[in-house]
Amino acid sequence: MSNPSLQAVRGMNDILPDEAQLWLWFEDTVREWLDSYGYRNIRMPLVEPTALFKRAIGEVTDIVEKEMYSFEDSLNGDHLTLRPEGTASCVRAVLQHNLLYNAPQRLYYSGPMFRHERPQKGRYRQFHQIGVEAMGFASPDIDAEQILMCARLWRKLGLTDVTLQINTLGDAAARKQHREKLIAYFAQYEDLLDEDATRRLHSNPLRILDSKNPQMQELIAAAPKLMDELHEDAILHFEAVKSVLKQHGVAYEINPRLVRGLDYYNRTVFEWVTTSLGAQGTICAGGRYDGLIEQIGGKPSAACGFAMGVERLLSLLQAEPKVVLASPLDVYLVHQGELADAMAGVLAEQLRDAGLRVVLHCGDGGFKSQMKKADASGAQFAVIVGDDEAQTGQATLKPLRGEGEQARIAQIELAQMINKQINRAFQRG
Ligand code: ATP
Ligand code: MG
Repeated sequence: MSNPSLQAVRGMNDILPDEAQLWLWFEDTVREWLDSYGYRNIRMPLVEPTALFKRAIGEVTDIVEKEMYSFEDSLNGDHLTLRPEGTASCVRAVLQHNLLYNAPQRLYYSGPMFRHERPQKGRYRQFHQIGVEAMGFASPDIDAEQILMCARLWRKLGLTDVTLQINTLGDAAARKQHREKLIAYFAQYEDLLDEDATRRLHSNPLRILDSKNPQMQELIAAAPKLMDELHEDAILHFEAVKSVLKQHGVAYEINPRLVRGLDYYNRTVFEWVTTSLGAQGTICAGGRYDGLIEQIGGKPSAACGFAMGVERLLSLLQAEPKVVLASPLDVYLVHQGELADAMAGVLAEQLRDAGLRVVLHCGDGGFKSQMKKADASGAQFAVIVGDDEAQTGQATLKPLRGEGEQARIAQIELAQMINKQINRAFQRG
């Protein structure tokens, strides 16, 4: 083991080449899927002013209270934070560059997020999200479209153990009303509240409903329901979302306890949950955030979005191992002898010109040891050039996986021959 003081920060993972192959396949699949709904890529910095997250996510949330990597820039005293999520940065960027000026925007981003949590399976301090945001859309069709999109992605990935929970949080006025009722209710039972709940009683009583403390569940079950405060517009909005889901045969469960851990949500909220990952079962979560854009200083503008946890999704893919990734390498080029060595580099470049992925053996090594390396490389073919072959302008083509006989071929025909036989597609099924 290397020097412990020089290892990665706890909860922040290296993704090694073997595993990174699955990441690449996943990222390709996701990009195709986003393209098919007209979402466009946006890339924001990993670091933002701390005030942005406090304002957007809310002071009395798990993230802002205890999970942010915030620091003072020792060079100029700025208060900065490693982004714990992407929506705040995305809204900031959209406003800063006036993207909503004449058209609504469908946007996505992907990359690392940082939260100081207790590392465990499915919960890391640096983790990755794919974030999807639609800004400037007020009607329920976009909420429904985003949920349908997710359902399509699960099908594309071949995931079966994923279920949808939805809820509506209503609008500001109803939430205010509900909040007052909640405070009055919980205040009656102050001695039954745990530490978190006591702290949140006046600052964020809605979050008490999200408590996982078993001792609080009975009290929570009998608390005033937001459903009873909803105004007609919000109810109709929710009905419209549900009716599109029904039309498309997307099953859902209404979970009135679903409140989400960030303050900015209103109306539709949803989570996709699996039972295959233990406690960290939420792989995708989101909803509407109609108030956020104004709160960050923009003109009032409705919006809806969601984020997927990439690590959780990938461990789900690994739990249902249907992904067969084809080798990322086509050819390992083995060569021995003075003439062959001189020719091999040129041949490798020619094969690459024809679109093939080629590793040229570099350094010393006899024929046998080169063939071992060829096998270990994962390439589908070895191309072998000895002085015999070199003299006649030929090469030996040896399939390394599956069937097929080795054969001696003219070098000029090699690329075409390999291209015909190659299996380049990533497969899942
Ligand atoms: P949780 O309840 O599991 O803490 P959350 O509500 O804090 O999740 P969101 O802020 O909604 O999570 O983030 C969206 C998704 O990102 C989550 O559904 C999850 O898949 C993933 N995610 C969140 N925090 C982590 C983490 N620390 N490590 C890995 N993935 C995470
Ligand atoms: Mg969390």
